[in-house]
Amino acid sequence: MTGPRGSQARTSATADALRDLGAEFVRREVAPHLQAWEDAGSIPRELHLAAGKQGLLGVAFPEEVGGGGGTLLDSVDLQEAMFEAGASSGLMAGLFTSGIALPHLVADWAACGNADLVDRFVRPTLAGDRIGSLAVTEPDGGSDVAGIRTTAVREGDHYVVNGAKTFITSGVRADFVTTAVRTGGPGHGGVSLLVVEAGTPGFTVARSLRKMGWHCSDTAELSYVDARVPVANLVGEENTGFHQIAEQFVVERIGLAVHAYGIAARSLELTAAYCRDRETFGRPLIANQVVRHKLVEMRRQVEVARTYAREVARRHVEGENVIAEACLAKQTACDTATYVCDQAVQLHGGAGYMHGTEVERHYRDARILPIGGGATDVLTDLAARLLGYAS
Ligand SMILES: Cc1cc2nc3c(=O)[nH]c(=O)nc-3n(C[C@H](O)[C@H](O)[C@H](O)COP(=O)(O)OP(=O)(O)OC[C@H]3O[C@@H](n4cnc5c(N)ncnc54)[C@H](O)[C@@H]3O)c2cc1C
Repeated sequence: MTGPRGSQARTSATADALRDLGAEFVRREVAPHLQAWEDAGSIPRELHLAAGKQGLLGVAFPEEVGGGGGTLLDSVDLQEAMFEAGASSGLMAGLFTSGIALPHLVADWAACGNADLVDRFVRPTLAGDRIGSLAVTEPDGGSDVAGIRTTAVREGDHYVVNGAKTFITSGVRADFVTTAVRTGGPGHGGVSLLVVEAGTPGFTVARSLRKMGWHCSDTAELSYVDARVPVANLVGEENTGFHQIAEQFVVERIGLAVHAYGIAARSLELTAAYCRDRETFGRPLIANQVVRHKLVEMRRQVEVARTYAREVARRHVEGENVIAEACLAKQTACDTATYVCDQAVQLHGGAGYMHGTEVERHYRDARILPIGGGATDVLTDLAARLLGYAS
């Protein structure tokens, strides 16, 4: 057990205020435009500015780096409320990419006071002025983080970077990309993190990728050809990148669990309302016991996923090591989203299959969640090792 993570000054009144702020933001700034952004394939920069101005982007970051000084639990409250109000998983992935691009820089600042990276990247991103991405996955594979092949070779005051990254969230729009590179030998001990800025000669967006879901979240394939990156952009010590990435995975996985039960809860609410209104065989759908029981089963799964993920988040904030539990929470919530979003489409009938129906979007968006941030199969194996079930 380590010490508590983040400020502990949290009351139900501040939690309620944060939830109201997030819900209102979605109703006012997001909902009227979401379908247009889905069709356009990205969200506008102005949305980051608006969210930054409201303090939404930095809720769980320390005040000293431009954040709100809260904890992961505040971020969970905020994101839950945004999903309840109709945010999509793609929207949240694109708007809150800072949540995966910045934590390593903040951890470096906390460990050794490196304020330069904070001033250049963290503060302006939390204010909504800049957009950052995290690039770990490569065309040769994403699950095996220790196997990355993109190289960074030191030449004087620069690293010369060569390689490719793929499936990078917000990578098309990113002003900078926190990039996993190989600075040392093979395996996890040779990985570092380097911030590569857009406009660096040799660093380009090779392709904007089209996807099954998460339509409003742009996704990039990135190319690095002799890209010269200042040594000052190294995050933490050279060859400690794997450890830094692994450290932040707990928060990312709990965050994705919130996406999963968040869209499941919203799909359930929409479906319950639809079942009250829609009549078949001369009576409302909800008059059928089988339909009511289906809604209860959806509710049961949402409650379990939410309660467990929040409990794991609480234990993380209190300083416990919850690497294995975060894997379980993510899987539980992803299984919930898979079941609930599928049943939501089913109960909407043909309307559920139509482009523009909200449950159809959540159904497509749900499919990425058991893959991104660690595929379920890989996380289950990690949990097996951590829980002592390995041979
Ligand atoms: C929309 C989207 C956004 C993304 N955003 C980002 C981002 O911002 N930054 C980033 O770095 N990456 C991002 N990713 C990449 C994502 O993290 C990877 O897709 C994921 O880690 C899986 O890697 P892979 O696709 O290379 O699959 P692979 O590693 O090739 O694995 C394929 C499948 O095989 C199975 N599998 C793999 N290894 C094992 C094993 N050891 N045992 C059993 N089964 C196994 C799993 O089911 C897995 O899904 C994104 C992906 C998508 C689709």
